[in-house]
Amino acid sequence: MQKKEIIYTPEEKKDIRQAYDEMILCIKSKFSEEDERQMFRAYEIAVDAHIEQRRKSGEPYIFHPIAVARICAEEIGLGPTAIVCALLHDVVEDTPITLEEIETEFGEKFSKIVDGLTKLDGLHNSPSQQAENFKKVLSTLADDVRVVLIKMADRLHNMRTLGAMPRHKQLKIAAETTFIYTPLAHRLGLYQIKTEYQDLCMKITNREMYSNIAKSLQETKRARTAFIESFINPLDAALKAAGFNNFKIFGRPKSIYSIWNKIKKKEVTFDEIYDLFAVRIVLDVPGAQEKQTCWQVYSIVTDVHTPIPERLRDWVTTPKSNGYESLHTTVIGPDGKYVEVQIRSVRMDEIAERGFAAHWKYKGGKEDNYNVFDAWLNNVRDILDTPDGDAIQFIEDFKTNLFNEEVYVYTPNGDLKILPKGATALDFAFSIHTDIGYHCHAVKINGKLVPMGHQLDSGDQVSVITKKTQKPTEAWLKMVVTGRARSKIRSSMKEEKRKQGEFGMEALQRKFKNLKIDFEENSDILVKYFNFQSRVDLFYEISMERITINNVLKNFNIENGKLVEIEVEEVDVEIPTEKESRRSRKDKFEGKSQLRVAGQNADEYNYQLATCCNPVQGDDVFAYLTATAGMKIHRTSCPNATHMMAHYGYRIMKAEWVGTTKTDFVAELLIVGIDSGRGVIQQLSNKISNSLGLNIRSFYIDGHEGYFEGKVSLLVKNKNQLDKAIQALKVEEGITSVTRID
Ligand code: MN
Repeated sequence: MQKKEIIYTPEEKKDIRQAYDEMILCIKSKFSEEDERQMFRAYEIAVDAHIEQRRKSGEPYIFHPIAVARICAEEIGLGPTAIVCALLHDVVEDTPITLEEIETEFGEKFSKIVDGLTKLDGLHNSPSQQAENFKKVLSTLADDVRVVLIKMADRLHNMRTLGAMPRHKQLKIAAETTFIYTPLAHRLGLYQIKTEYQDLCMKITNREMYSNIAKSLQETKRARTAFIESFINPLDAALKAAGFNNFKIFGRPKSIYSIWNKIKKKEVTFDEIYDLFAVRIVLDVPGAQEKQTCWQVYSIVTDVHTPIPERLRDWVTTPKSNGYESLHTTVIGPDGKYVEVQIRSVRMDEIAERGFAAHWKYKGGKEDNYNVFDAWLNNVRDILDTPDGDAIQFIEDFKTNLFNEEVYVYTPNGDLKILPKGATALDFAFSIHTDIGYHCHAVKINGKLVPMGHQLDSGDQVSVITKKTQKPTEAWLKMVVTGRARSKIRSSMKEEKRKQGEFGMEALQRKFKNLKIDFEENSDILVKYFNFQSRVDLFYEISMERITINNVLKNFNIENGKLVEIEVEEVDVEIPTEKESRRSRKDKFEGKSQLRVAGQNADEYNYQLATCCNPVQGDDVFAYLTATAGMKIHRTSCPNATHMMAHYGYRIMKAEWVGTTKTDFVAELLIVGIDSGRGVIQQLSNKISNSLGLNIRSFYIDGHEGYFEGKVSLLVKNKNQLDKAIQALKVEEGITSVTRID
């Protein structure tokens, strides 16, 4: 012990203690002396356990658990139990402290949470490692939501301190965050955390755009503040004149990420986005008067500023299924600018910002809101219930149900059912009861027969007609979107597959018996060889005669009763078409690629540029090792990047451009403009080929109602050249926008 003590400098020891004391001050709930003793004990254990660890930035590791505890207290509003667990969240994984010791010291309640926070072992580099970990986290969600809330805090602190990490790790962590933590934060109503995740991720994957928007926001701040004032002042006066005294009214800036989203979605520039902020009115009123008061305020707001009726959203009467309650309207403010106004009570505001965590506080007050989460947790349990569910699929299902908005439909009795947007009649059947789903024969919506895959609209009244002999088929999977229905159909299919696979299993058993080798062990070797999920798939494929046992075994030797794959030279493994296409690429483009992957010259890796995002030299890129087609280079902003990084993070390698190159890269532009009927193609081709000196590979153009949309594929040397081309095309007459296609 004493030998360890010297590892923290006296200065550090002081800072650590100070960080702890400051964290304790952030706890909002009351706590007992016993709580205090336990938190301090957890602190002491963590300080001691992490003594030999430092973070990438060089600071002692212990600052991390303390910071996580602080986020739990300050930003999520959690109490002493969560603080103890946050302080201990990394000790089991990273230090000699065991779960048993934590249980002895603090009790089972604590060790269970810490267990949930500890990553799974022994799955390193398995494609589903990440997914298994997520699944574990989500399983604990159904037992104790605090585990996930602490995980959120952990992730947030890691994201905030990502600067010291190497670039490829940053990308991987950002991808995971986008893939699972952001939707989860959304679903748990942790609005502030979700927003910060999105901004921090964007800062990593799209640095350039992030700083551009941040800069523009800064530059326009003064004008915006003045505008908000001119909007708010008459409102404030009108509210006071109507006798309202306990309220706050203020402008809230939108996040950089959401602004970026608008720019992309609406294909506008920063200057064209009018609603860079929303105005919020928060009313301090007793629970019973909330709804009535919100509508009174709505009435005053729309007296002062003209509303746009289609933009009225009433989440007070029917909260969103993540608990969000608020009354939204968009009105026309000074200078004819649209402004979104959000009207809500203090309680609603707290729930909107802190979501689930705030629900505990109001749990006693208004049962309805709590039930929204309760119902959702039941859904989580349903998805988790699926026997031997595959983790990656589980996450996919989970996500479908995470991010979606919802539709409100009714049973024939008039009971309300909330389903994710896009849910079908068949989803509805499964949401009523598994058996009703299994035997769903026909569905009526508002009294009319519809196909089972029919998408539901809010307000539909749905009734299901069942038939005993009916059972799920593979086609059903395409007719549902909810995790519950998918997992139920899938497990039914799996059972069916298992039955059909029995023949294959017996055939393999006979074969292995003849060869005098163990059935279980060698079956698993084949499962791995084919990259199947389970033996069921192997047996099924053999049954269906898509795999011939004797042919497969040609690839194996038997050594000590075990199948051993015969080593094949790498050349033979490669897919010929890939090889050929690469050769032709190399012929066409002379010169070195000037790309480095993991510090090596990329040519050593036989890479290809991904065609989904067409990177050009100068883009932010990463390398991805595919299972069958060698290495591909993608842009970090590639729409597929998130998925790849989250699922197959271990296949990601760092890639960077060095120097300049003679190589040509393909880049695709989307050009939108007004069709003046004077030969747009000619005008643009001239500009591109003659003035800019670039080669056009293809040019498609499509016009409608005086507008045209063109897709042009260009050969450029680098990003700089591409950016210049975009700028030059933008200022051409009649051109509305020029954007690079992701
Ligand atoms: Mn951690």
